[in-house]
Amino acid sequence: MIIDLISDTVTKPTKGMLDAMMNAKVGDDVFKMDPTVNALQEKAAKLFGMEEALFFPSGTMANQAAIKLHTQPGDKLFCHKYAHVYNYEGGGAAFNAGVTCKLIDGARGMFTATQLQEAVVGRSDIHVPYSKLVCIENTTNKGGGACWDFFELKKIQKISKENNLAFHLDGARLFNALVEKKESPKHYGQLFDTISICLSKGLGAPIGSILLGSKEDIEKALRIRKLFGGAMRQAGFLAAAGIYALDNHIERLSEDHQKAKEIGTVLKSVSYVTKVEQIETNIVIFYVDDKIGDENFINKMKEKNILLTPMGEGKIRIVTHLDFTDQMHEVLLKDLKNF
Ligand SMILES: *Cc1c(COP(=O)(O)O)cnc(C)c1O
Repeated sequence: MIIDLISDTVTKPTKGMLDAMMNAKVGDDVFKMDPTVNALQEKAAKLFGMEEALFFPSGTMANQAAIKLHTQPGDKLFCHKYAHVYNYEGGGAAFNAGVTCKLIDGARGMFTATQLQEAVVGRSDIHVPYSKLVCIENTTNKGGGACWDFFELKKIQKISKENNLAFHLDGARLFNALVEKKESPKHYGQLFDTISICLSKGLGAPIGSILLGSKEDIEKALRIRKLFGGAMRQAGFLAAAGIYALDNHIERLSEDHQKAKEIGTVLKSVSYVTKVEQIETNIVIFYVDDKIGDENFINKMKEKNILLTPMGEGKIRIVTHLDFTDQMHEVLLKDLKNF
């Protein structure tokens, strides 16, 4: 038995999801003739109370399309220094959209409205790139699955509006935040110009992300998706997995959060762990003492068929998910206690 906790992307489709995929009605989505893709897009738009939605092969492409549609080459966006759009998309903001990122600091992948206010004011002469976009991430990935405070987001939106900045949410794990904080997708739909969500993370679909926005923005995104090579044909087989995920795999995210918190409790109780970051959702980040060392710890766990990820700066990451069973959970807790 391999206990793979590298990411919540390692899940394989369940029997029910595979059945839904196999039974999907499909067509050519480049001609907007795939009924299942259309149904997924309508369902997602309705869920968030946004005008339109567009199916993408990856979260990276959905984010990159959003950055591209909100900016022109030479412009600038604001994001946290841990942001996925800055750290983990291959430099795409520069490559695809030709924009620079102004990085903001702050605990656990989040910044405050005051920090954004400080970052946006300053010179506005010809030396300075135009400011066009604010990107935030909920939950935060490198920040350890932290959930933003909705009222802080409202303040950030106000500042964005006052400064003519578009507001994009990288919501790869937004449903983890919604379930944990018992928030409504419609409230998020009202706050942001565009939102990307991943179906292939905690929701357990094999492939797929969605970009949500106004009719005008999604029309631009459609052209950009084609330009990026992301327009697909009988993609309904994949969209069917997405519909199934939205119908069946949202509420159960709380089980992943519960397991992550139980792992955190054990980690706090053992002497070789020096620090455990606050755990709100399905990501656990912790540090082991220098006598063991993070790489050595990860290798030793690998010998027990338990797979963890190094996150740099001594951080070790565990991500719980749909395929992490109760039985695996018991084995992991025992192995952590006895290490
Ligand atoms: C996973 C992830 C993405 C997109 O990832 P893909 O692997 O391209 O689907 C974007 N943002 C965050 C915060 C993520 O964790």
